[in-house]
Amino acid sequence: MEKKIKEKLKSLVAEMLEAIGEDSTRQGLAKTPDRVAKSWDYFISGYNLSPEDVINDALFEEECDEIVVIKNIDFFSLCEHHLLPFKGITHVGYLPDKKIIGLSKIPRIVDIYARRLQVQERMTNQIAGALQKVLKPKGVAVIVEAEHLCMQMRGVEKKASFMVTSAVRGVFKENQKTREEFLAIVSKGKE
Ligand code: ZN
Repeated sequence: MEKKIKEKLKSLVAEMLEAIGEDSTRQGLAKTPDRVAKSWDYFISGYNLSPEDVINDALFEEECDEIVVIKNIDFFSLCEHHLLPFKGITHVGYLPDKKIIGLSKIPRIVDIYARRLQVQERMTNQIAGALQKVLKPKGVAVIVEAEHLCMQMRGVEKKASFMVTSAVRGVFKENQKTREEFLAIVSKGKE
């Protein structure tokens, strides 16, 4: 994060503390603006990254006609409506077309889109779109299950509710059997 932006954030946080009637210079709060700015630097670090950046050359030629699934990729994001966290897990599946991707890269692609202001539906679509673009597989499927602190902490208080979103591309969209196979792998071990 640029120094100028960080300084601006710090002064805004101090202003916010004053606005709610706090003394932003008291011991417990004196370093809070700095801590918040540093945290935000991390929370929004996805804006500066593209999938191409993290993939580098981790694409490998491979004849493979089975679905590849990576389950339970955890993530933390910020809801753009309330600036409160939502967090959960992502399941990603793809059917390769002569190319596979290094396994560790998929969680990093998830983080590119999680570490920015988001709505869950868009994040789900962006992850699917990014994989479709860089990997050019026969299809991609993404499921995101998340709990939103804006629902849990505020008046609605639906503490146990999860939001589930999905995005499918290619064969996962066109072929019900492929989609069902993916869903079966994802739900295995859950019962
Ligand atoms: Zn929200």
